[in-house]
Amino acid sequence: MALTFHLECSVLCGAGPFDATKVHHLCTCGRPLLARYDWDRVSSTWSRSTVHNGVRSMWRYSPVLPLEADETPVSLGEGWTPLLRASRLGADLGLTQLLIKDEALNPTNSFKARGMSTAVTRARALGAKTLAVPSAGNAACALAAYAARAGLQAKVFMPQDVKAPFVRECQLHGADVTLVDGLITDAGRVSAERGQPLGWYDVSTLKEPFRVEGKKTMGYEIAEQLAWSWPDWIIYPTGGGTGIVGIWKACEELERLGWVTGQRPGLISVQADGCAPIVRAFHAGATTAAPWDNASTVADGLRVPAAVGDILVLQALRESGGGAVAVSDDDMIQGMRDLGRREGVGAAPEGGATVAALRRLVDEGMIRRNDRVVLLNTGGALKYLEVLHEAQRAAGIHSQEFEARSAQ
Ligand SMILES: *Cc1c(COP(=O)(O)O)cnc(C)c1O
Repeated sequence: MALTFHLECSVLCGAGPFDATKVHHLCTCGRPLLARYDWDRVSSTWSRSTVHNGVRSMWRYSPVLPLEADETPVSLGEGWTPLLRASRLGADLGLTQLLIKDEALNPTNSFKARGMSTAVTRARALGAKTLAVPSAGNAACALAAYAARAGLQAKVFMPQDVKAPFVRECQLHGADVTLVDGLITDAGRVSAERGQPLGWYDVSTLKEPFRVEGKKTMGYEIAEQLAWSWPDWIIYPTGGGTGIVGIWKACEELERLGWVTGQRPGLISVQADGCAPIVRAFHAGATTAAPWDNASTVADGLRVPAAVGDILVLQALRESGGGAVAVSDDDMIQGMRDLGRREGVGAAPEGGATVAALRRLVDEGMIRRNDRVVLLNTGGALKYLEVLHEAQRAAGIHSQEFEARSAQ
């Protein structure tokens, strides 16, 4: 059965195209591969009105996802998350059209579910039995759940100091957890050393071409939820960069389909003061990002000192007329509180970081009062209760329960 997609080098180095019925990871030039579809065929069988009646998950866009004919995806109901109007937080910031795409509602509490749904679907179709991933936390949880769903084995490699809820959740789904002394890059090295001789299927960010396909559906959903139009800005917390690369790919594909016209959104990458390789490279005018030394931040998903997709992220930020901002851990936590108190949204520090970045860009005048802005809350608050507790203690905010107990 011929596939309706193939793989192409993301920087068009001249190698390929590559046949997607075989296992491929990076291009021969060392850069990521991306899936490309037969647009004539997609357009002839699919329209905005057919998608309107589609399933209420990201698989409503299955003609542009890596699914074989008659194949059922490995799914837990990921995607089709709400795009919430945030008028109270918007008013605080002086904005009239603020929206929050709440990815915390995904299986395992983060947008990583989208990428793992497509990656595990494809890995299963290619005959993989054992899947491996280095992760700062959420990718490991998502792989663990989707591997379990598919009846496959997951091997996850995380930094030794990862927060306990991530380890417990991986174990809950039957994954084999290895903690590595160092950062996600070190976890990647150990995972590759162990896995390559044993033939494990590597699901590392952008070293495998299909996670980004799941993540691009965030772009499709934002457009569909805005009646097939783009906001002025999308603010996205950036680690490995698949979110930015995916949303930019969605912009290109939706134009090709003719479903969305008009100016694409400006993409804004948010990183942490303690780990901001993309922000530094963006402001230096560089095309690639040098690795960040001594990376440190409370936002695990942003603690990524080097990314294989750096070139693609920087390209997307520049071509979109967007920007890049680094924020402090304290400001991220304040952003979590703002989302929690003003909008009822439980955000991870990465989601809080988008609020901190937005506040800065409004102050600087880059984002204006009537601009339509989408914040991506990429993950939920519940794996970060310890972080919130410590921040409250440091700020001298005691809960009534705490005070009642200490008064006894
Ligand atoms: C992984 C992660 C990120 C970073 O996403 P990329 O697309 O890899 O840049 C942001 N937020 C959360 C909650 C994450 O888990």
